[in-house]
Amino acid sequence: MLIPQDWQGLPYFPISLFYQRKFGAKVWKVPVSTATTCPNREGLKGMKVCNFCDEWGSAAYPEIREQHLIDQIERNREHLRKRYKAHKFLVYFQAYTNTFAKTQLLEQQINTALKYDDVVGIVIGTRPDCISDAVLELWQKLSEKTFVGVELGVQSFNEKQLLWMHRGHTAKKSIQSIFRIRKSCPNIDLGIHLMFGLPGETQQQILEYAHLTNQLPVDNVKLHNLHVLKNTPLELEYKAGIFEPISREEYADKIIDYLINLNPQISVHRLTAVASRHDELVAPQWVANKMASYQYVLDRFKEKKAFQGQEFQAHLGADVTHCLSSLTTINAINAL
Ligand code: SF4
Repeated sequence: MLIPQDWQGLPYFPISLFYQRKFGAKVWKVPVSTATTCPNREGLKGMKVCNFCDEWGSAAYPEIREQHLIDQIERNREHLRKRYKAHKFLVYFQAYTNTFAKTQLLEQQINTALKYDDVVGIVIGTRPDCISDAVLELWQKLSEKTFVGVELGVQSFNEKQLLWMHRGHTAKKSIQSIFRIRKSCPNIDLGIHLMFGLPGETQQQILEYAHLTNQLPVDNVKLHNLHVLKNTPLELEYKAGIFEPISREEYADKIIDYLINLNPQISVHRLTAVASRHDELVAPQWVANKMASYQYVLDRFKEKKAFQGQEFQAHLGADVTHCLSSLTTINAINAL
């Protein structure tokens, strides 16, 4: 198997390696929770909570969200220092929608994070329909002096699946936002989150997602499998037998198909979802064992003699229009 040697033996380009090359050392993300809500939770324009989202809005450590930002940074940084001997950090504004509140507040929070000498940048999680001109201006200004990463919760490029998830934004909006961010902030590190295991998902769709990702100006992807948490709308669907999560085997094959077709220059955050709060996990149980699931995916890569980008060259410029229902071409979206 001809895996690129500089991926340290892994069959994909891990973002940890991207950070290591960029900063000359291993860099750890320090998750913080400062945002407290999102457009869906506020019911704006009749929006509903995303069907998979728990009350903590994807926070890694919801128990600390009442703490002051400084306490959150110091506590989480200390933990990483002790556990991994970490000494360079990115503060990750993770939970809910971090560009929903006033941009001025976000700027103050970012400036607080950047006061630490060992914080080498920030990463902001948000959604495609919450990007204002003021936010873009802030990111551009910050990116002139530090590392700025943005992670957009795209989740799917299929309009029907987005509706089913109650995302409240369209695929078209995601694509427009990606181009808009890149145009306004050429230096930021832009990533997208995608979910696999959605109802009606086909292998063709997975391949088209990879071809589409290759045509977008993104630097990295974060992959999840849709799983069921307690007290979510998805739990009701699961219990009513309407939704069945995919098996670990199916998921591994899906993301391998995606990664084989993905540009090898695009780095990958992680290969499986992480249920940080095990007591909240309803299904599938394999999500609870993060390391075993990760190892399973690596073993499947090996069995298939596969690696990221293996098929990339063969599909350069592939037609992606039919995975974007109701849209014409990606260039048309970009021009809107
Ligand atoms: S996933 Fe994000 S946008 Fe959706 S309800 Fe949760 S916090 Fe809000």
